[in-house]
Amino acid sequence: MTSAPPSGPATPRSRRVSQRLGAIAESATLKVDAKAKALKAEGRPVIGFGAGEPDFPTPDYIVAAAVEACGDPKNHRYTPAGGLPELKQAIVDKTRRDSGLEVTPAQVLVTNGGKQAIYAAFAAMLDPGDEVIVPAPYWTTYPEAIRLAGGVPVEVLADETQDYKVTPQQLEAACTERTKVLLFVSPSNPTGAVYTADEIRALGAWAHERGLWVLTDEIYEHLVYDDIETGSLPVLCPELADYTVVVNGVAKTYAMTGWRVGWMIGPTDLVKAATNLQSHATSNVANVSQRAAIAALAGDLTAVARMKTAFDRRRRTIVSMLNEIDGVVCPMPGGAFYAYPSVKGLLGKEYDGRRIDTSAELAEYILDKAEVAIVPGEAFGSPGYLRLSYALGDDDITEGITRLQKLFA
Ligand code: PMP
Repeated sequence: MTSAPPSGPATPRSRRVSQRLGAIAESATLKVDAKAKALKAEGRPVIGFGAGEPDFPTPDYIVAAAVEACGDPKNHRYTPAGGLPELKQAIVDKTRRDSGLEVTPAQVLVTNGGKQAIYAAFAAMLDPGDEVIVPAPYWTTYPEAIRLAGGVPVEVLADETQDYKVTPQQLEAACTERTKVLLFVSPSNPTGAVYTADEIRALGAWAHERGLWVLTDEIYEHLVYDDIETGSLPVLCPELADYTVVVNGVAKTYAMTGWRVGWMIGPTDLVKAATNLQSHATSNVANVSQRAAIAALAGDLTAVARMKTAFDRRRRTIVSMLNEIDGVVCPMPGGAFYAYPSVKGLLGKEYDGRRIDTSAELAEYILDKAEVAIVPGEAFGSPGYLRLSYALGDDDITEGITRLQKLFA
């Protein structure tokens, strides 16, 4: 129940929601997804390009490990706040195997998804007023997590003319004496951009020279196409290893978005602080989910290789179909499962007597008329673009983009 605020002077009681939380915007990606799912539930033939989650089920052996774990009463209890020791060890082993980065279990905090790792990392790193450089287009959660921790996101925009990748020169122009952290994500959500090893070395060298921390989000590490030569930032820039937080999780690699297991890796003092926060906030990640994550990490990468083949095929389909629409320019993304076309050529026009000036209005129009759900670039700090996840079935992709082609023919 919500009621109108009482009239008269503001009192602590009448300020209903704190300013800190009142300023948070709802996750635009989850909102679009929820709207699409609600319309679908009403029987409308909506095709959703909104959510960033694989359409595949979690591989059987992982589910079987979870089912078994459910039957064992020891898994009906709390785990240590920072995570099961076996899972931390599995994360250490996986990090060595996949990135070549050597870490210890004391450098690992198991979180409720990569999302909570980002929140915890910024909470542990930032004091009020500390600035974080956020390359844009950015994933919608980063600025909110930074602000919640008292920090100030400073956006640096890289558009399609530079393949959505920032340069050290741009970062230098945005750096002040309050800058504490550089946020880095490759492959990127929302653009799918993948930085090459040389580009990562250049950004890392710049951050090191400036005495900054780096938060590197590696959640899409296994979804890199075309054999692009890339790597993990603290491995390519070992001088930064003591000032780097790596965020990762099982969600995208093993089709486990709903299990809510991620982690942060960082220097032990920072991880200890973040673990203390977690001990008061959530206690620990669901025990059974942690057991499932152990099975995922202990297994091989066959399932993700299979998914990657499908994503790669869908990537080519969606990009070429989008580029057939006059007014749409879609670069080929090198990783993740998002296409990020510029739709500036479609704006400033009338459609069915309705004038459309922004990508947000365009996304609404597309949902109304074509029953296709897409997240507008406004959610990622770059109006004039749309983000389409291609983690959905091939037929749905073809049908959805065909509807757009017809709508804008
Ligand atoms: N980082 C990026 C760049 C993401 O796109 C996502 C999921 N959308 C996450 C982190 C978090 O994933 P999860 O919380 O599901 O592990």
